[in-house]
This record gives sequence, structure tokens and C-alpha cells, in this order.
Amino acid sequence: MGGKRVFYNCDKCPAYCCSYPRIQTTRKDLRRLAKHFGITLERAREKLTKRGPEKGERVLRQQHDHIYDSVCAFLDRQSRQCTVYESRPEICRNYPGSSRCGYYDFLSFERRAQEDPDFIPLI
Ligand code: SF4
Ligand code: SF4
Repeated sequence: MGGKRVFYNCDKCPAYCCSYPRIQTTRKDLRRLAKHFGITLERAREKLTKRGPEKGERVLRQQHDHIYDSVCAFLDRQSRQCTVYESRPEICRNYPGSSRCGYYDFLSFERRAQEDPDFIPLI
């Protein structure tokens, strides 16, 4: 019953982790996304990803953003929610990989310091 306790709240964060330029996808991720959009694996690979820095690597495409410059193409820029949440890649599911999120700690610290609950510090 219940998940592990975590010390961050993604609902209060403008999705900093979705601004990483290198969101890697595996073949399994691509299969899941292809199914989500009702397209072939090849088409998903072409349309939804681009070449990453490592040989053979495919990373999610990006879009321009008013907060972090660029974010994942699947992020809804207004609501700051993932538009493919149920089908998102494994790397997104596992992030941040511990009970704390470094960015959230930073965000909370700055919001307290500025006494502004909506403040968004840029790194
Ligand atoms: S940066 Fe951290 S707090 Fe913000 S959405 Fe990502 S995991 Fe959640
Ligand atoms: S797939 Fe969703 S969770 Fe993953 S980076 Fe893109 S918007 Fe964020």
C-alpha cells in the first residue's frame, strides 16, 4: 500500500526536468509511443525523436518555451503537464530516481527566500 515518500511536488514545479535536451528513448519507449499515436515504430522514430549525441541514440524532440528556452515537444507549455503521460519514456518515469529532486529543493528555497510562491529561478 502507498508509494515511497517523496520530498518534492511536481504540481508546484514548471517541469524543469522536461527541459533537459537529452531525453533518451529505447526501442520499447518508441513502441509504446507508436502505439499511443497509432503509427508505426519507424514513423514514431522519425517524427517524435531526433538523433542524440551517442551513436544510434534517439532523443525526444524539443519545442520553444517561454520559461526554459526549450522543453520536450510533449510538454503542454501552459499546464506544464506531460501530454503523453501514460506512454512517456522509461527515463521520465524513473526521474528523479530518489526521494528528493535537486531542482525542487532549489525552487522551494528560492520561493521561500523571495516570499513568492510562484517564483521561478533560472539556472
Ligand atoms: S524537476 Fe523535479 S519537481 Fe520538477 S517536475 Fe521534474 S521531478 Fe518534479
Ligand atoms: S515525455 Fe513527458 S515527462 Fe518526458 S520529458 Fe516529455 S513532457 Fe516530460
